[in-house]
Amino acid sequence: MMTELTEVVDVPIPGTGADRSPPAPAPADHELLDRDGAVVIIRGVILGRASSRRGPDDHTHEGDYAPRSWKCSACRWFEVAIYGVSGDPVYADGTYVVHTLGRSIVPGDITFARVAYADTPDEVIKSLVQWSQPRTGRQRPSLPAASADALDDASRADPRLDNAYASWLDAGLRT
Ligand SMILES: [Zn+2]
Repeated sequence: MMTELTEVVDVPIPGTGADRSPPAPAPADHELLDRDGAVVIIRGVILGRASSRRGPDDHTHEGDYAPRSWKCSACRWFEVAIYGVSGDPVYADGTYVVHTLGRSIVPGDITFARVAYADTPDEVIKSLVQWSQPRTGRQRPSLPAASADALDDASRADPRLDNAYASWLDAGLRT
């Protein structure tokens, strides 16, 4: 069967001239898995997202699936997405949503999901920061690699987030 092209779309190529910068993505509805299998819908744009998932050739164990508590990012991984709220019926423009998922292909494991609303860029970062154990001395903040990747992208897309992230890094946040 022949395919007929009925529409020609002129896609701007990024970085090919001052007047060719890519348009900001249009806000859209996003269905996000939350705790206990609930699904919430937010309207906005994806600022950054990342995953720690490794490929099917990167298992770190014998057999199909990692044992309990065994670290294997081909079996169990972390996903992060940061949204800028825009046009949402409930939440104000300029706020953020951080969606985190702990996923697994191991039978019997469950998906951990969380949707966190953040009024400010600082709250976005706080929701992703992990603190070292107190017994190792003074607690220090750090970010899992996937969270740092998502924040890097989101900072490029959002100057307010970029400022807040730079302040955290200056203050000792490790990535
Ligand atoms: Zn594995």
